[in-house]
Amino acid sequence: MTETILRLLTRLSEAGDDAILPGELAAPFFGPVFDRLLAKRVLVEHAPLADWEVCDACECGLPCRPIRKAGDAFRAECPLDRRQDIDLAEDDLRLFRIGGDALASVIGAAAGFRAAPKLAAEKVWRLGDTPAGRAVFLALEPAALTGDGIIASLRQAARGSDITILAPKLPAEAARRHRDAGFHLIEILEVLTPATNGLGGTIDIAALTPVPQSPVLRVRKATAEVQWEGRSVILSRQIFPVFERLLEKALSRDQVASGSHVEGTTAREAKDLIRELRDAFKAAGFTDAESKALIVTVRNRGYRLSLAASDIVFDG
Ligand SMILES: [Zn+2]
Repeated sequence: MTETILRLLTRLSEAGDDAILPGELAAPFFGPVFDRLLAKRVLVEHAPLADWEVCDACECGLPCRPIRKAGDAFRAECPLDRRQDIDLAEDDLRLFRIGGDALASVIGAAAGFRAAPKLAAEKVWRLGDTPAGRAVFLALEPAALTGDGIIASLRQAARGSDITILAPKLPAEAARRHRDAGFHLIEILEVLTPATNGLGGTIDIAALTPVPQSPVLRVRKATAEVQWEGRSVILSRQIFPVFERLLEKALSRDQVASGSHVEGTTAREAKDLIRELRDAFKAAGFTDAESKALIVTVRNRGYRLSLAASDIVFDG
């Protein structure tokens, strides 16, 4: 994924209160978005650096080396070896502190939450609720989610709502505890995508809701009935054999039924049979998209059901 200033700051903020953005990393991002982040105090500039770390394995004994002005630029000089001198641009001496509260606010805005985040536990913000009513929390540093009592604190803050947590990668044990508690844990950098929206990033709110468990399809041959996603579809005696041919393929190694296989001994074209089959699902309340998602057209090859054999129960 393209690096953006917002993604960079999110990564650096894992260091917590010590999180800083050195000028040399900041320089490629100078521009309107950067200025906006300064204005929002996501970034707060420090006094410029006056010294630089000593060179690797140096025997000079200095704690650090002074930075001297050298013409239009600057130089960190090694007292022992001039070849180790480092030339620095003015931007290299700049230093920005990263403000956690302000960054949380910008990340919340990137996900479309209008209200300012509220602190729900130490260094854990509640960004808001999804349209479906999930409580969305944000932690910038892993340590915020590893402490004792954090599970109970978040449950209490959510007041019965389902919970999604945006966080950096957690230690495996902590991640397991949150998942065991039923929380939907998401790595921020997996959903914080670059955008040209003035913040330089966006989070698709749909990504904050867990993907439902794969649906199970139940088929009863005796009644020509198909149960899927909580609905029941009774197929006509003419169209059930078509579904049955797709079903047999879904249960076999090669899941795709060719057009001629779908047609079987009927005198009708496969595309008409498939349309009629999908219409039967739509008549039972499924949308056009849902019926096409279940009965998939495989270009130039035929048709298949979108389910794994393990998700199908066939009372044949
Ligand atoms: Zn040196």
